[in-house]
Amino acid sequence: MRVLVIEDDDAVADGIVDGLADRAIGATRVSTGTAGIAAIAESPPDLVVLDLGLPDMDGTEVCRRIRAASSLPIIIVSARDDEVDRVVALELGADDYIVKPFGMRELVARIHAIARRSGGADGPRDEASPSRLVIDSRARRVLLDGEPVHLTPREFDVLEYLARDRGAVYRRTDILRDVWDTTWFGTAKTLDAHIAAVRKKLGDPGWIESVRGVGFRLGEP
Ligand code: CA
Repeated sequence: MRVLVIEDDDAVADGIVDGLADRAIGATRVSTGTAGIAAIAESPPDLVVLDLGLPDMDGTEVCRRIRAASSLPIIIVSARDDEVDRVVALELGADDYIVKPFGMRELVARIHAIARRSGGADGPRDEASPSRLVIDSRARRVLLDGEPVHLTPREFDVLEYLARDRGAVYRRTDILRDVWDTTWFGTAKTLDAHIAAVRKKLGDPGWIESVRGVGFRLGEP
């Protein structure tokens, strides 16, 4: 479990990071919304703890932007004990809302509750409704609604890469580096061609969503 803390108040942020570390939960901290969004694009954490009162943009805007690009869990921590803020935050897709001051025990309990709900970072997102798309890495086989999908080896590699963390956005440069073992710029078109081919074979472009300016993620149309 890796937590990203977006909080401009040093004392609050240090308290959260240290408190999580005491409970063997790794946390990194950034102090602006812009840095938070960049950190998520760079390397998506398992959960975000987000302050609403940030120096560069409102936390609700940060929440909206994170949610536009991924489904990663967000816990809002706010000094504003305001029903409107709470409703807005939850409507924007935050998973929970805690009012400052709060105890570490409460925050950790909520983190664990969300991790259980989402099945944890490594587990299936929702056991009640397994995905229609099954990617068998061992047999290098893809089944869609029980029917095999015939992919080229490289197409399989791309799809499998995106499936490592469904819903997470993977950066183009990371996909190129890890699947093609290159950062050569010319391969960007190759990546697009492979994404297009996989979409076509899956019969619905919604399986692989483009996230403008960032990269791609595996969706569920
Ligand atoms: Ca603040």
